[in-house]
Amino acid sequence: MGQTSQYSHIIQYIKSLFPNQDFIPLHEPRFIGNEKKYLADAIDSTFVSSVGAYVNRFEKMMQDITGARYAIATVNGTAALHMALIVAGVKQGDEVLSQDLTFIATANAISYIGARPVFLDIDRKTLGLSAEKLEAFLKEFGKREGGATFNSKTGNRIAACVPMHSFGFPCEIDRIAAICQEWNIPLVEDAAESIGSYYKGNHTGNFGLLGTFSFNGNKTVTCGGGGAIVTNDERIAKLAKHLTTQAKTPHTWEFNHDYIGYNYRMPNLNAALACAQLEQLNAFVENKRKLAENYKNFFERLEGIEFVAEGKDAKANYWLNTLLLESKAERDAFLGEVNNSGVMTRPAWTLMHKLPMFQDCLRDDLQVSHWVEERLVNIPSSVRI
Ligand SMILES: *Cc1c(COP(=O)(O)O)cnc(C)c1O
Repeated sequence: MGQTSQYSHIIQYIKSLFPNQDFIPLHEPRFIGNEKKYLADAIDSTFVSSVGAYVNRFEKMMQDITGARYAIATVNGTAALHMALIVAGVKQGDEVLSQDLTFIATANAISYIGARPVFLDIDRKTLGLSAEKLEAFLKEFGKREGGATFNSKTGNRIAACVPMHSFGFPCEIDRIAAICQEWNIPLVEDAAESIGSYYKGNHTGNFGLLGTFSFNGNKTVTCGGGGAIVTNDERIAKLAKHLTTQAKTPHTWEFNHDYIGYNYRMPNLNAALACAQLEQLNAFVENKRKLAENYKNFFERLEGIEFVAEGKDAKANYWLNTLLLESKAERDAFLGEVNNSGVMTRPAWTLMHKLPMFQDCLRDDLQVSHWVEERLVNIPSSVRI
């Protein structure tokens, strides 16, 4: 099959999966459960802001879904990550190990504290942080001192490690957790994209000290804007709740605050939406996994295109279905033709170290990151109704 006729074959197939649509977006939200009912209920209750029954219910649901002992609702996933890094003890001048191929929010959250991200390579199979590259970096530069790990070259403390589960595919989080434990580096999982994804039977976000989630409009489940922090550490959970609610000390009428806090708590209106959406999480993930199965069978029969499938230890939510094309030229031709035909497809994020704010950050050879950046595209992945 020639390139152009192969692309029209693909376009036809995607259109057959999402029939009766002039334009097929990458990921559309679906409000087909109790969303309107719970929203009306929240409005009628007059508790529309950061205190309300739905916020507490949302936190309980997140505990049940992830298996974490504590969950703290936040205004969005970026705030969740910022707060998680603060309560993990990251300070100005520290280094935080993360991956070069990620959404900008990962690197931004690290930067809000005045810490510097270190961009490590990703794994070819999982598209998340490479356990091998993490270990290699620590063997070359890590220096243990007084219970912490420092970078022997810069002298800075390595205060946390933030792997990200790219597009909902779990990274090798058990190996990464073991390496972090060995070096006594707090592990904070950016699980923004991986609600409903499991590694070796355990939900993502629950392998280290903290995990964070996003419920932005384009994610698998959404509440407009929202996020969550999960942890099994009671002290950390209490501190996160305290700092996300202006660090106000409890008192019937007095306003006293014992830290510089944040207005980071999810409003009850958003939590009402979140509860209704989380009720449908299993159905959404099953629906998305069926779509992925269809794509897998289709693309397996095509030359020169790799459909990215979950690894043997992983159960992915298939937030965004992912293809790897043969070259950057192929990718650009694909993006051009497919987008022109009303089917939305997108390339990977620009690698973090290429952005002006992060150009002088430490990094490793980033071999796989460069290779993947040139070839990756995401294709329509909404829940089908
Ligand atoms: C969506 C996302 C976030 C941020 O979530 P918001 O709710 O949009 O703030 C963080 N990290 C990753 C990897 C994401 O995809």
